[in-house]
Amino acid sequence: MHKDNHRERLHTSVAHDPYDARHHGSIHIPIYQTSLFSFDTYERFTQAHANEQQRHVYSRGNNPTVRYLEDKLAELEGAEMSKCFASGMAAISSTILSNVKAGDHVVCIDQAYGPTRHFLQHYVARFQVETTFVDGRSIEAIETALRPNTKLLYLESPSTMLFQLQDLAACAALARSRGIVTVIDGTWATPVFQRPLALGIDLVVHSITKYISGQSDSMGGVVSGSKELVGRIAEGEYMMLGGIMTAHTAAQVERGLRTLPLRLERHERSGLKVAEHLLRQPYVLRVNHPGLPSHPQHELATRQMDGTSGLFSFESAESHETMRAWADRLRYFKIGVSWGGFESLVSANPTSEDHGVPGARSLVRLHIGLESPDDLIRDLDEAWAQTSASEASAAAGRSGQ
Ligand code: PLP
Repeated sequence: MHKDNHRERLHTSVAHDPYDARHHGSIHIPIYQTSLFSFDTYERFTQAHANEQQRHVYSRGNNPTVRYLEDKLAELEGAEMSKCFASGMAAISSTILSNVKAGDHVVCIDQAYGPTRHFLQHYVARFQVETTFVDGRSIEAIETALRPNTKLLYLESPSTMLFQLQDLAACAALARSRGIVTVIDGTWATPVFQRPLALGIDLVVHSITKYISGQSDSMGGVVSGSKELVGRIAEGEYMMLGGIMTAHTAAQVERGLRTLPLRLERHERSGLKVAEHLLRQPYVLRVNHPGLPSHPQHELATRQMDGTSGLFSFESAESHETMRAWADRLRYFKIGVSWGGFESLVSANPTSEDHGVPGARSLVRLHIGLESPDDLIRDLDEAWAQTSASEASAAAGRSGQ
């Protein structure tokens, strides 16, 4: 299907549900605030228990409000099945655990979300599962890292500090030829801009906390894929580890989901406008945004994604302290972790020596929210004018002493 048609149709998918007589035609699925479901006969109870993924027995397994959200997300992702969790990390850790056992090997990209890397390197390692971290931009590096006992290839594309991509179709084909399960963290692109299952990836995880919720008021995660792989997680880690999504959270996320494509179109437009402005600023050495033609993987980005969201970074020759002082002066960008909500955010970090562009001393990540991009640009410019003036007067003071 043409990319633009697909994007247009998503607006209908999130807004429309078939008439549901069980709920008197209610426009929203009711919040099933219950821990258990009761039965009028023991026989019906036994039948439901034997098929807990389809029937409702206990909310740690299958709650109707959560199931409604899962079905909606599966539709957007083009998946047979989705399972929602209490957080992105609950979805990620359960998905990893479901696919490894003692003696197995995992290949993971070196730019994956920090706690995911930590989970593989320090937690899963306690159970004799070894992980090799590789530069995901290179399919050769991934292939070289594979071993006869590799069971899982873990991707995150784009990554969310340096915005590096993996070639998803190539990774999927390689892994499939060796019987290796592929998982991708697709949080940045959401199902609106990227559908990895159509490219051959086995499982997609998202932190719902970010764009899917979009309101910065709820936490959640989701894994989507085949009935076989997601069903195994649902019956195993979902039930055993208990990191479940509650009915209230599912209802809250459903509200956010209704406007996901609408919000993302604005995040995309505003993000690109601010990124293009930054390209011309004296304090910016390089902008890491896959939607910019200057991004080294821009061609791959346009090939495997339908659009770009509002989170990107830039590298600066200015010190970490200077960029922190600049961030302090911003009016509209709040200082904080996370992203994907209506609000713009900034975080300034020292660059890691392995990845920075030559001369870079700091890496600044911006989330472009739903405010006017012109206000945001003015904010960035004014904060820089004040910061550079204050640096210049401090330098003059030092040289005058
Ligand atoms: N994946 C990415 C790319 C993230 O940025 C985050 C959180 O920041 C997560 C996963 C984890 O999600 P959560 O905080 O919902 O557990």
